[in-house]
Amino acid sequence: MRIDIITIFPEYLSPLALSLVGKACEAGSLDVRVHDLREHAHDRHRTVDDSPFGGGPGMVMKPDVWGEAIDAVLSQPPAAGARATLVVPTPVGHRFNHAAAEGLAAQEWLVFLPARYEGLDARIAAHYRTRAEVTAVHEYCIGDYVLAGGEAAVLVMVEALARFIPGVLGNDESVLDDSFAPGADGLLAAPAYTRPAQWRDLSVPEVLLSGDHARIAAWRREQGLQATRDYRPDLLRGEGS
Ligand code: SAM
Repeated sequence: MRIDIITIFPEYLSPLALSLVGKACEAGSLDVRVHDLREHAHDRHRTVDDSPFGGGPGMVMKPDVWGEAIDAVLSQPPAAGARATLVVPTPVGHRFNHAAAEGLAAQEWLVFLPARYEGLDARIAAHYRTRAEVTAVHEYCIGDYVLAGGEAAVLVMVEALARFIPGVLGNDESVLDDSFAPGADGLLAAPAYTRPAQWRDLSVPEVLLSGDHARIAAWRREQGLQATRDYRPDLLRGEGS
Protein backbone atom coordinates (compact mmCIF):
# COMPACT_ATOMS: atom_id res chain seq x y z
CA MET A 1 0.00 0.00 0.00
CA ARG A 2 1.14 3.55 -0.77
CA ILE A 3 0.46 6.31 1.74
CA ASP A 4 1.14 9.98 0.93
CA ILE A 5 0.82 12.67 3.59
CA ILE A 6 0.86 16.40 2.80
CA THR A 7 1.65 18.65 5.77
CA ILE A 8 3.35 21.86 6.86
CA PHE A 9 5.16 19.82 9.55
CA PRO A 10 6.83 16.86 7.79
CA GLU A 11 8.92 16.08 10.92
CA TYR A 12 5.69 15.50 12.86
CA LEU A 13 5.24 12.26 10.91
CA SER A 14 8.67 10.85 11.81
CA PRO A 15 7.19 8.31 14.31
CA LEU A 16 5.90 6.42 11.26
CA ALA A 17 9.49 5.20 10.79
CA LEU A 18 9.22 3.33 14.13
CA SER A 19 7.64 0.15 15.42
CA LEU A 20 4.94 -1.68 13.48
CA VAL A 21 4.50 0.86 10.67
CA GLY A 22 8.27 1.41 10.34
CA LYS A 23 8.84 -2.34 10.06
CA ALA A 24 6.08 -2.62 7.45
CA CYS A 25 7.86 0.09 5.42
CA GLU A 26 11.18 -1.73 5.71
CA ALA A 27 9.50 -4.99 4.65
CA GLY A 28 7.91 -3.25 1.62
CA SER A 29 4.25 -3.81 2.60
CA LEU A 30 3.89 -0.04 3.11
CA ASP A 31 5.41 2.85 1.17
CA VAL A 32 4.93 6.06 3.20
CA ARG A 33 5.82 9.42 1.57
CA VAL A 34 5.61 12.74 3.40
CA HIS A 35 5.37 15.99 1.39
CA ASP A 36 5.94 19.58 2.51
CA LEU A 37 2.88 21.70 1.64
CA ARG A 38 4.97 24.87 1.66
CA GLU A 39 6.83 23.73 -1.46
CA HIS A 40 3.61 24.67 -3.24
CA ALA A 41 3.33 28.17 -1.73
CA HIS A 42 5.08 30.56 -4.09
CA ASP A 43 5.04 33.94 -2.36
CA ARG A 44 8.01 35.26 -0.38
CA HIS A 45 6.56 34.06 2.95
CA ARG A 46 5.37 30.68 1.55
CA THR A 47 1.89 31.50 2.79
CA VAL A 48 -0.53 28.57 3.20
CA ASP A 49 -3.43 30.32 4.97
CA ASP A 50 -5.63 33.39 4.72
CA SER A 51 -8.44 35.03 6.69
CA PRO A 52 -11.92 33.48 6.46
CA PHE A 53 -14.54 34.87 4.11
CA GLY A 54 -17.43 36.09 6.22
CA GLY A 55 -15.11 37.10 9.06
CA GLY A 56 -14.36 35.35 12.33
CA PRO A 57 -11.26 34.29 14.23
CA GLY A 58 -8.43 32.15 12.89
CA MET A 59 -7.16 31.42 9.42
CA VAL A 60 -8.24 28.99 6.70
CA MET A 61 -5.84 26.92 4.58
CA LYS A 62 -5.70 28.09 0.96
CA PRO A 63 -7.26 25.87 -1.73
CA ASP A 64 -4.80 26.96 -4.44
CA VAL A 65 -1.77 25.84 -2.41
CA TRP A 66 -3.39 22.56 -1.33
CA GLY A 67 -4.69 21.94 -4.85
CA GLU A 68 -1.23 22.22 -6.38
CA ALA A 69 0.24 19.93 -3.69
CA ILE A 70 -2.48 17.28 -4.09
CA ASP A 71 -2.23 17.38 -7.89
CA ALA A 72 1.54 16.82 -7.63
CA VAL A 73 0.94 13.71 -5.49
CA LEU A 74 -1.83 12.42 -7.77
CA SER A 75 0.50 12.77 -10.76
CA GLN A 76 2.77 10.08 -9.26
CA PRO A 77 0.51 7.02 -8.82
CA PRO A 78 1.97 3.82 -7.35
CA ALA A 79 0.97 2.00 -10.55
CA ALA A 80 -0.47 3.10 -13.90
CA GLY A 81 -4.18 3.78 -13.48
CA ALA A 82 -4.13 3.52 -9.67
CA ARG A 83 -6.78 5.70 -8.00
CA ALA A 84 -6.28 7.44 -4.68
CA THR A 85 -8.51 7.56 -1.61
CA LEU A 86 -8.19 10.97 0.06
CA VAL A 87 -8.48 11.20 3.84
CA VAL A 88 -9.16 14.53 5.55
CA PRO A 89 -8.85 14.52 9.36
CA THR A 90 -11.42 16.95 10.77
CA PRO A 91 -13.75 17.26 13.77
CA VAL A 92 -16.52 17.75 11.17
CA GLY A 93 -16.42 14.21 9.84
CA HIS A 94 -17.57 10.65 10.32
CA ARG A 95 -16.26 8.88 13.40
CA PHE A 96 -12.99 7.06 12.67
CA ASN A 97 -13.50 3.56 14.06
CA HIS A 98 -12.60 -0.10 13.58
CA ALA A 99 -14.67 -0.42 10.40
CA ALA A 100 -13.21 2.78 8.94
CA ALA A 101 -9.65 1.58 9.64
CA GLU A 102 -10.40 -1.78 8.03
CA GLY A 103 -11.96 -0.05 5.01
CA LEU A 104 -8.92 2.20 4.49
CA ALA A 105 -6.57 -0.79 4.83
CA ALA A 106 -8.27 -2.39 1.82
CA GLN A 107 -7.31 0.52 -0.48
CA GLU A 108 -4.15 0.51 -2.58
CA TRP A 109 -3.36 4.24 -2.23
CA LEU A 110 -4.22 6.68 0.56
CA VAL A 111 -3.49 10.41 0.53
CA PHE A 112 -3.84 12.16 3.92
CA LEU A 113 -4.50 15.90 4.12
CA PRO A 114 -3.90 17.05 7.72
CA ALA A 115 -4.75 20.73 8.20
CA ARG A 116 -3.81 23.40 10.75
CA TYR A 117 -5.53 26.65 11.80
CA GLU A 118 -9.32 26.48 11.18
CA GLY A 119 -8.90 23.73 8.58
CA LEU A 120 -8.98 23.39 4.79
CA ASP A 121 -11.02 25.59 2.48
CA ALA A 122 -14.20 23.52 2.00
CA ARG A 123 -13.77 23.46 -1.79
CA ILE A 124 -10.84 21.02 -1.53
CA ALA A 125 -13.05 18.06 -0.55
CA ALA A 126 -15.76 19.13 -3.01
CA HIS A 127 -13.31 19.39 -5.92
CA TYR A 128 -11.45 16.12 -5.35
CA ARG A 129 -14.73 14.19 -5.10
CA THR A 130 -15.18 15.02 -8.79
CA ARG A 131 -11.72 13.90 -9.94
CA ALA A 132 -11.29 10.71 -11.95
CA GLU A 133 -8.01 9.79 -10.18
CA VAL A 134 -9.82 9.78 -6.80
CA THR A 135 -12.07 6.94 -5.57
CA ALA A 136 -13.42 8.82 -2.53
CA VAL A 137 -12.73 11.66 -0.12
CA HIS A 138 -13.29 10.59 3.49
CA GLU A 139 -13.57 13.16 6.26
CA TYR A 140 -12.82 11.49 9.59
CA CYS A 141 -12.92 12.65 13.21
CA ILE A 142 -10.78 10.63 15.65
CA GLY A 143 -12.61 11.74 18.81
CA ASP A 144 -14.84 14.40 20.29
CA TYR A 145 -12.14 16.99 20.99
CA VAL A 146 -10.21 19.50 18.89
CA LEU A 147 -6.51 19.05 18.15
CA ALA A 148 -4.24 21.87 17.02
CA GLY A 149 -3.61 20.05 13.75
CA GLY A 150 -4.37 16.91 11.79
CA GLU A 151 -0.90 15.30 11.93
CA ALA A 152 -1.56 13.50 15.25
CA ALA A 153 -4.84 12.25 13.77
CA VAL A 154 -2.93 10.88 10.76
CA LEU A 155 -0.54 9.02 13.07
CA VAL A 156 -3.54 7.48 14.82
CA MET A 157 -5.28 6.49 11.62
CA VAL A 158 -2.19 5.05 9.91
CA GLU A 159 -1.30 2.96 12.96
CA ALA A 160 -4.89 1.67 13.23
CA LEU A 161 -5.23 0.77 9.54
CA ALA A 162 -1.74 -0.76 9.28
CA ARG A 163 -2.81 -3.49 11.73
CA PHE A 164 -5.23 -4.77 9.06
CA ILE A 165 -2.59 -5.10 6.33
CA PRO A 166 -1.67 -8.79 6.03
CA GLY A 167 1.75 -9.52 7.49
CA VAL A 168 2.08 -6.23 9.39
CA LEU A 169 1.15 -7.65 12.79
CA GLY A 170 3.33 -10.42 14.19
CA ASN A 171 0.19 -12.38 14.99
CA ASP A 172 -2.46 -11.63 12.37
CA GLU A 173 -5.12 -13.29 14.53
CA SER A 174 -4.98 -10.56 17.13
CA VAL A 175 -6.99 -8.15 14.95
CA LEU A 176 -9.80 -10.69 15.00
CA ASP A 177 -10.40 -10.63 18.75
CA ASP A 178 -9.11 -7.22 19.78
CA SER A 179 -11.52 -4.67 21.22
CA PHE A 180 -14.19 -3.57 18.69
CA ALA A 181 -13.47 -6.49 16.31
CA PRO A 182 -16.43 -8.41 14.84
CA GLY A 183 -14.77 -11.62 16.14
CA ALA A 184 -15.31 -10.21 19.64
CA ASP A 185 -18.85 -9.13 18.64
CA GLY A 186 -17.68 -5.52 18.71
CA LEU A 187 -17.09 -5.68 22.46
CA LEU A 188 -14.10 -4.48 24.45
CA ALA A 189 -11.34 -6.98 25.17
CA ALA A 190 -11.06 -8.97 28.41
CA PRO A 191 -8.28 -8.05 30.86
CA ALA A 192 -4.89 -9.64 30.12
CA TYR A 193 -2.34 -11.21 32.48
CA THR A 194 1.17 -12.64 32.18
CA ARG A 195 3.84 -14.21 34.44
CA PRO A 196 4.40 -14.21 37.36
CA ALA A 197 1.08 -15.85 38.30
CA GLN A 198 1.37 -14.25 41.76
CA TRP A 199 2.47 -10.56 41.89
CA ARG A 200 2.47 -8.73 45.24
CA ASP A 201 -0.85 -9.71 46.81
CA LEU A 202 -2.57 -10.30 43.47
CA SER A 203 -2.96 -13.59 41.65
CA VAL A 204 -4.08 -14.32 38.11
CA PRO A 205 -7.70 -15.51 37.78
CA GLU A 206 -7.65 -19.27 38.29
CA VAL A 207 -9.50 -20.02 35.01
CA LEU A 208 -6.57 -18.69 32.96
CA LEU A 209 -4.26 -21.30 34.52
CA SER A 210 -6.75 -24.15 33.99
CA GLY A 211 -5.76 -25.05 30.41
CA ASP A 212 -9.50 -25.45 29.70
CA HIS A 213 -9.89 -23.49 26.45
CA ALA A 214 -13.69 -23.50 26.43
CA ARG A 215 -13.83 -22.13 30.00
CA ILE A 216 -11.19 -19.52 29.17
CA ALA A 217 -13.11 -18.38 26.07
CA ALA A 218 -16.37 -18.13 28.08
CA TRP A 219 -14.59 -16.19 30.86
CA ARG A 220 -13.02 -13.78 28.36
CA ARG A 221 -16.36 -13.17 26.70
CA GLU A 222 -18.05 -12.43 30.03
CA GLN A 223 -15.21 -10.11 31.07
CA GLY A 224 -15.33 -8.31 27.72
CA LEU A 225 -19.07 -7.89 28.09
CA GLN A 226 -18.64 -6.49 31.61
CA ALA A 227 -15.92 -4.04 30.46
CA THR A 228 -18.21 -2.91 27.64
CA ARG A 229 -21.11 -2.38 30.08
CA ASP A 230 -18.80 -0.38 32.38
CA TYR A 231 -16.93 1.75 29.85
CA ARG A 232 -18.83 1.77 26.56
CA PRO A 233 -22.53 0.95 26.93
CA ASP A 234 -23.03 2.76 23.61
CA LEU A 235 -21.38 -0.25 21.89
CA LEU A 236 -24.01 -2.58 23.34
CA ARG A 237 -26.73 -0.32 21.99
CA GLY A 238 -25.06 -0.46 18.54
CA GLU A 239 -24.27 3.26 18.64
CA GLY A 240 -20.50 3.04 18.81
CA SER A 241 -17.93 1.26 16.70
N1 SAM B 1 -12.25 24.86 13.15
C1 SAM B 1 -12.28 23.45 13.27
C2 SAM B 1 -13.57 23.02 13.95
O1 SAM B 1 -14.08 23.74 14.80
O2 SAM B 1 -14.05 21.90 13.66
C3 SAM B 1 -11.09 22.94 14.10
C4 SAM B 1 -9.80 23.05 13.36
S1 SAM B 1 -8.45 22.28 14.24
C5 SAM B 1 -7.89 23.58 15.26
C6 SAM B 1 -7.18 22.14 13.03
C7 SAM B 1 -7.09 20.81 12.34
O3 SAM B 1 -6.77 19.79 13.29
C8 SAM B 1 -8.33 20.29 11.64
O4 SAM B 1 -8.55 20.89 10.39
C9 SAM B 1 -8.01 18.82 11.52
O5 SAM B 1 -7.09 18.55 10.47
C10 SAM B 1 -7.31 18.53 12.85
N2 SAM B 1 -8.19 18.03 13.89
C11 SAM B 1 -8.53 18.65 15.05
N3 SAM B 1 -9.32 17.90 15.80
C12 SAM B 1 -9.49 16.74 15.14
C13 SAM B 1 -10.22 15.54 15.41
N4 SAM B 1 -10.92 15.40 16.54
N5 SAM B 1 -10.17 14.54 14.51
C14 SAM B 1 -9.47 14.68 13.36
N6 SAM B 1 -8.76 15.79 13.04
C15 SAM B 1 -8.77 16.80 13.91
